[in-house]
Amino acid sequence: MEAAEFESVLATVRDFVREVVVPAEDEIEETDEIPTRIREQAKAMGLFGYAIPEEYDGLGLTMSEEVRLAMELGWTTPSFRSLFGTNNGIAGQVVAKNGTPEQKQHYLPKFASGELVASFALSEPEAGSDPSWMRTSAKPDGDGWVIDGAKQYITNATRADVFMVFARTSGERGTTKGISVFVVPADAEGLRIGPNDPKMGQRGSSTAEVSFDGVRVDASTLVGGQEGVGFGAAMKSLAKGRLHIAAICVGLAQRMLDESIRWATASRQGETRIADFQLVQGMLADCHTEIYAGRAMVLEAAREYDEGTDQRLAPSAAKLYCSEMVGRVADRAVQVHGGAGYMHAVPVERFYRDARLFRLYEGTSEVQRVIIAKAITRSR
Ligand SMILES: Cc1cc2nc3c(=O)[nH]c(=O)nc-3n(C[C@H](O)[C@H](O)[C@H](O)COP(=O)(O)OP(=O)(O)OC[C@H]3O[C@@H](n4cnc5c(N)ncnc54)[C@H](O)[C@@H]3O)c2cc1C
Repeated sequence: MEAAEFESVLATVRDFVREVVVPAEDEIEETDEIPTRIREQAKAMGLFGYAIPEEYDGLGLTMSEEVRLAMELGWTTPSFRSLFGTNNGIAGQVVAKNGTPEQKQHYLPKFASGELVASFALSEPEAGSDPSWMRTSAKPDGDGWVIDGAKQYITNATRADVFMVFARTSGERGTTKGISVFVVPADAEGLRIGPNDPKMGQRGSSTAEVSFDGVRVDASTLVGGQEGVGFGAAMKSLAKGRLHIAAICVGLAQRMLDESIRWATASRQGETRIADFQLVQGMLADCHTEIYAGRAMVLEAAREYDEGTDQRLAPSAAKLYCSEMVGRVADRAVQVHGGAGYMHAVPVERFYRDARLFRLYEGTSEVQRVIIAKAITRSR
């Protein structure tokens, strides 16, 4: 995409977020749904396919462009970006980076247009941080496979048309070899989707359990047409996703700081503006500084991602820093608002709950530390 064209996409998304999605935040919180009008407009703007290559009808953004877009998307309820996050990110990238030419041709244009919603089904009970312990298996059956097992906390499961299902086709539990990935239609016989999980925050996004009871799929559903590529495919998708999440955290932190500045300059104790208390100023300055650091880190990590010099360590470092940073900003934002910060009436109360998730999914903070530490000590 030409630079000027990208700047225009960015400006359109920024206006849409601020003029359409932000005013709908309370409705989204109350109904636990993204209104159809917003979903349809997101489709029309190409948001279901910003990270899908242009040859498959996506916007084909580079990582440096994607993170700038994500910072704009992050300025509102994180459930908005969740709507199309799996199509572009963890699920869509499985096909984009590992699919056969036929799989790419068949699925990617439909993901990009939003005609199909894709979900990423990796995590299981006792196999979340370490998916090598997964119990879900796929056994050969004639010219296809039979999948048995269960996945938990799967984003967009209740809206999905297809699932990227990770299943062991060979090898022992606890090893990463022998994990394969299949594109499984949501209406396959024996596939069951549980009810929406009740969550702490991010209302308007959904997760659910997905179970597979003798689900038969044909050979063409094996991603890449090859067994054993599943673990690598998951790690590649997750690394890209982590950088995206880091950028969302920067956007959300900026929104909370903007809300806090607005509050602190508009409210008083007696005759003194809240913003004139030096201890409050300290909180605002710390937020600004940490957001600045997070933004700089994300932009640098994205540059390295695009250059191909680091597509693993920097995304983990950025996700670790920014997801923890947004938690600290959320805490200070509530504090700056005083008692009002604890009330549903102000956005920062909701964002405080929303922000907590970022340290948990797409790899917990502990998992990011393990990845970083392994990488920096490997050659020593
Ligand atoms: C809202 C939401 C949406 C999600 N969406 C998806 C999705 O779309 N697809 C999907 O596949 N999954 C999804 N997940 C699952 C998510 O990725 C996992 O919850 C996460 O990876 C942690 O796994 P776990 O819940 O099993 O926790 P556990 O792995 O049991 O972790 C418990 C604690 O132990 C720590 N721990 C675990 N292993 C280690 C270690 N080796 N070293 C140090 N500490 C460790 C963890 O950091 C954590 O503090 C989602 C989860 C949530 C909450």
